[in-house]
Amino acid sequence: MSSKLRILVPVKRVIDYAIKPRINKAQTGVETKGVKFSINPFCDIALEESIRLKEKTPELVESIHAVSIGPAKAQDVLRTALAKGADTSTLIDVGEEEVEPLQVAKLLHKMVEKQGSNLVVLGKQAIDDDSNQTGQMLAGLLDWPQATNASKVEIKDDEVFVTREIDGGADVLKAQLPMVITVDLRLNEPRYASLQNIMKAKKKPLEKLKLADLGVGSIDNRLEVLKVEEPPTRHAGIKVENVDELIAKLKELKVI
Ligand code: AMP
Repeated sequence: MSSKLRILVPVKRVIDYAIKPRINKAQTGVETKGVKFSINPFCDIALEESIRLKEKTPELVESIHAVSIGPAKAQDVLRTALAKGADTSTLIDVGEEEVEPLQVAKLLHKMVEKQGSNLVVLGKQAIDDDSNQTGQMLAGLLDWPQATNASKVEIKDDEVFVTREIDGGADVLKAQLPMVITVDLRLNEPRYASLQNIMKAKKKPLEKLKLADLGVGSIDNRLEVLKVEEPPTRHAGIKVENVDELIAKLKELKVI
């Protein structure tokens, strides 16, 4: 490979996947007070793939840089990323402000330029907003090829082969660097960080930037959330003894 990989892995801090979110009183979003936050699971998979690539072929990978856009507390997910194997990291501190995918993509664009990255590996979606947009928008802004929903990534010579999950099969794409890859659930199973590596990660670089440091005045969100609602509650089912009873019940409920 002519140029070594400088991988950028954007990691989002989201409500832990195992927690059942509750809607806030104002019905504008999810209640975040007193709730456990973690690295977005798809970002964890993106990070794992990058680390495996570096472990398997150290001669191909120069660096893995993790970046998170969020509140100061998003440092936690960066420390986790460093403990798992990222070399360096950046927090873009935007306080408590929500940042839409297009604005995230614009900030990541700046980070790609700043870091001189030639491969960006993102989650296919963040499990809080389920947008599934950031990687695609970033590829558009950079004018780089993109492969979304990767279930396998291989690098041979100067080419990147990405297998994508599609309905009823797989789609294999070939592209050249620089490129953007978004990853799907079945790509790998992320590791846990060992205590020893968590301790070591405290010494790894974590750069803290404000928007102004990237030459950005403010976040220019274009969408307004009007209302967030719980799904309708499901009624308990009943058991019927036989088909006749089932048909009678369905008739009673006027569904047939
Ligand atoms: P989304 O388009 O919001 O579903 O997010 C897709 C991917 O974009 C995530 O898995 C992350 O890799 C990246 N991303 C989105 N928001 C952020 C953020 N605030 N900070 C870092 N990465 C992000």
